[in-house]
Amino acid sequence: MTRSLESRYDAIVVGGGLAGLAAANRAAELKLRVLLLEAGSGDRYLCNSRYAMGFFHVAFHPVTANASELREGIEAATDGTADARLTSAIATTIGRGTAWLSERGVRFIRGGAADWMNRVLAPPGARRPGLHWQGRGGDVLLRTLAEHLKQLGGEMVTDARARRLRMENGRCVGLDVNVAGRDVHLATGAVILADGGFQANAELVRRYISPKPEKLCVRNAGTGRGDGLMMAEEVGAKLVGLDRFYGHVQCREALESQELWPYPILDLLTSAGIVVDRFGRRFADEGLGGIFMANAIAALDEPDTATVVFDDAIWNGAAREYILPPNPNAVEAGGQLISRPDLGSLAEALGLPGAALQETVDGHNAFLRDATCRIWPERTRRFGPPQPITKAPFHAFRVCAGISYTMGGIAIDGEARVLDHADRPIQGLYAAGSSTGGLEGGGPAGYTGGLSKALVFGLLAGEAAARERASMAA
Ligand SMILES: Cc1cc2nc3c(=O)[nH]c(=O)nc-3n(C[C@H](O)[C@H](O)[C@H](O)COP(=O)(O)OP(=O)(O)OC[C@H]3O[C@@H](n4cnc5c(N)ncnc54)[C@H](O)[C@@H]3O)c2cc1C
Repeated sequence: MTRSLESRYDAIVVGGGLAGLAAANRAAELKLRVLLLEAGSGDRYLCNSRYAMGFFHVAFHPVTANASELREGIEAATDGTADARLTSAIATTIGRGTAWLSERGVRFIRGGAADWMNRVLAPPGARRPGLHWQGRGGDVLLRTLAEHLKQLGGEMVTDARARRLRMENGRCVGLDVNVAGRDVHLATGAVILADGGFQANAELVRRYISPKPEKLCVRNAGTGRGDGLMMAEEVGAKLVGLDRFYGHVQCREALESQELWPYPILDLLTSAGIVVDRFGRRFADEGLGGIFMANAIAALDEPDTATVVFDDAIWNGAAREYILPPNPNAVEAGGQLISRPDLGSLAEALGLPGAALQETVDGHNAFLRDATCRIWPERTRRFGPPQPITKAPFHAFRVCAGISYTMGGIAIDGEARVLDHADRPIQGLYAAGSSTGGLEGGGPAGYTGGLSKALVFGLLAGEAAARERASMAA
């Protein structure tokens, strides 16, 4: 994929995931001379887009819904904290975006009975524990878009890690990149940052998300090292919402075992049962869902000490529902289900204080029996109803937080233009996908769909760069 580089491009895209490839293709279609730089090696370089299960949705609404439903969905998921410009961009562009992919040969199928599952990349992700991306939807998507870019005359260079932006009179005019060990300076009319977030940068994760990043399950491709974020910050970009990530609650053994990530996840169990810390106490509102709970677990001073506790009715009910449910997948893949006939012996097996665990479970059960009873932290019902913990045997999994991608990042406007601290666009600089912030993460770590965000802002960045070039030429 490497050719000799030109000294000047109309647009340089940093990152070859969905966001970067959408941006590069769209810019090339609009007649820009485009170069895409990808830090990974070979034509199957790893990234989160390649690992994705392939569900295109907007805050768990179908991408085919009308714009007002999608807008309301994002506002509800984020408790109204999402930037209205970004909400509107997603709501009005995602339909066109998925159609754009289809027209370029990307195939979708229905991925399940729920409405929001009506656009899933084909072939769909393997429904078995562990990581299986080869030949699946994300892999095929990236290869299709890379081929399309080549046909349009765009260039793509792998083993090329962007390092630094060059500015002139407040305008981004180029960047420094290390290509296969050699430092190169490239001039360009626009840079589009699409490097996929900072989940694989332990120092940044420690600063913003968790005191102990080494105790989080790396539920990602390990390629989002925050390069784009740091490069943008250096030239005056605003950063927003850095303390939230998209991820799930996983079996603790996933910290060691490849079989237990990215799936199965334990979100169903945390929404039905309770999650306690090493003192046997609840510490967050499980009703806000598994993504929120993963964030709460990661923020604990010891993130590898939380436990989900539930009873046999939950284990044989809620735990059997949904895609790759914990029962039986978590156990078959090596997760350690701990079961005892009573709560006292369960606490002992877990090494938790028995009296505290009993009190926590009693409080939870009383809250469900009696509407006037209060518990703290309060328990809402946003993701599935809480259920009593009364039917023996009683069960538990030790859990950890799996981090997939960071939801905060570089501030952009509705045209994917990078904003400075006064909310003014930085000329010639754009960002897309998981490198950006402002849409997701607010309220209860509201998740609006990583693939939709990557596709929409990738396309919009390519289009905005083309518009900027046309206006400069005029
Ligand atoms: C296991 C898993 C399952 C998922 N399933 C879904 C799903 O079903 N639906 C959904 O909506 N979302 C899903 N997601 C999230 C989704 O995959 C991401 O939100 C999306 O793919 C992000 O795309 P991106 O282009 O921003 O980042 P990426 O796909 O991560 O691409 C970023 C690229 O930038 C490159 N890069 C990094 N730094 C540099 C640099 N300095 N110079 C050059 N290149 C650089 C990286 O190597 C990488 O190739 C899933 C994520 C994971 C991990």
